[in-house]
Amino acid sequence: MKALGPIPIEYTAKDGELAIGGRIASALAKEARETPLFVYSREIIEQRIAGLRKAMPERLNIHYAMKANPYGPLLEFMADLVDGLDIASAGELQQAREAGYLPREISFAGPGKRDRELFAAIKAGVTLNLESENEADRALQIGKELRIAPRLAIRVNPSFELRGSGMKMGGGAKPFGLDAERVPALARKIVDAEANWRGFHIYSGSQALDAEAIIESQAHVLDVAATLAQEAGVPVPHLNMGGGFGIPYFDKDTPLDIAEVGDALKARFAGLPPVLAETQFAIELGRYLVGEAGVYLTRIVDRKVSHETTYLITDGGLHHQLAASGNFGTVVRRNYPVAIANRFDAEPEEVVNVVGCLCTPLDRLADAAHLPRAEVGDLIAVFCAGAYGASASPDNFLGQGPALEMLV
Ligand SMILES: *Cc1c(COP(=O)(O)O)cnc(C)c1O
Repeated sequence: MKALGPIPIEYTAKDGELAIGGRIASALAKEARETPLFVYSREIIEQRIAGLRKAMPERLNIHYAMKANPYGPLLEFMADLVDGLDIASAGELQQAREAGYLPREISFAGPGKRDRELFAAIKAGVTLNLESENEADRALQIGKELRIAPRLAIRVNPSFELRGSGMKMGGGAKPFGLDAERVPALARKIVDAEANWRGFHIYSGSQALDAEAIIESQAHVLDVAATLAQEAGVPVPHLNMGGGFGIPYFDKDTPLDIAEVGDALKARFAGLPPVLAETQFAIELGRYLVGEAGVYLTRIVDRKVSHETTYLITDGGLHHQLAASGNFGTVVRRNYPVAIANRFDAEPEEVVNVVGCLCTPLDRLADAAHLPRAEVGDLIAVFCAGAYGASASPDNFLGQGPALEMLV
C-alpha cells in the first residue's frame, strides 16, 4: 500500500459524494455530458486569495502567474481578485486581454521572446521583464520604431535559490534573467535611453512549503534589489519579488504557514532602505492560488485483476494530468490525493492501482492506493488539479484530445 496525498480540507461529502462548489460529482459529470472533466471552484479560489490578503502586508500586490491555469472563465474570474497578471508569451497576452486585464497590470517574463512578441507587448503597454542584454536592445529598438517608451524591468538571476523548492529557477547558471553583476550597467542603459524604467523581477523558485525558506528568500530579494539599485544609481518603481508558495501534493506534505511569511514581510517592510521607500511590491503566484481549487474527474471504464493486482482503468490519464502521473518534473513518483468521488464518505476496503487509458506504463494516477470498493462507471477524483493540469499535459497524445473544463 502507498499513501495518498492529503485531500484539501475544503472538500466535503454531500449525499455520500464529493461536492465541489456545493454540487455533487455525479451531477457535475452529468451536466458536462462527458468525462474526463476538470472542475474549478470559485469559492475555494476566493477563500484562498482572501486568506492571503489578510496574512500579507497591505502594501504587497498579488499577481497571478497565468501559466498555472489559463482557462478563460477562470482567468476572467481572477481579474477581479488579483492586482496583476504575469504572462509568458504573446498567446497568453491575447488571452489576458480577452479576459479583461489592463495592459498596465500585465508583466511579461520568459526567455526567448520573439520580436513579434516584444512588438505586441510594447504596443499594448505591457511591462517586459527583460531576460538578457540582447532582448533589451531589441525592445529599445522596437520602442523607437513604435515611438513608444517601452515599460522595461530587468529579471535578475539571483545568486541564491529558494531552499526546498520543487523547481529551482535561480542560483548558478540559468537561462532566466541576467546575472546580478551585469544588471547595474543594463539598468543605467535603459534609464539613459528614456524607456519607462519599471524596476526588477527576482524569482528564486517554486513549490516551497517551508515558511522559513520563503522568508529567507524574500529577505535576499529585498537586499539584492536595494544593492543593485544603489550600484546603478536608479530608482525601483516596482519590485516583483517572485513567489514560490507551494501546496501539499503528497503524503506528509504540510501546508505553508502564510501567517509566518506575512509577519516576517511586514517587519521587513517596516524597515526598508531609502532606495526602496517608494517601491511598489508584488508577489507572483500560480499553484498557490488555484491548484487546490481544481479536481479532475475521470470515469472507471474497466476493472481487472492481473497477477493479484487490481486495476481501475479510467477514461482519463497523463494526457490531462501529466503531473499527477509523476512525469512532470518529479524524480520519484508519489501519489497525488485521489478518491472515489461518488463514494466519498465510504471506508477504504481494497488496494488498487488507478491507471489511465493510454497504452503506456507511464499512465498511472495512483499506485497501490487504499480506496473504497469501486465499480465500472464510478468516478475517480484527482485533487490538486487546478494548476499545471489541462494546459500542461500532452492532450494530443494517442489522439485523445482535451478534457472538458468547468468553473463552478
Ligand atoms: C511558473 C512561474 C510562476 C508560478 O509558479 P507557481 O509555482 O505556480 O506559483 C511564477 N513566476 C514565474 C517567473 C514562473 O516562471
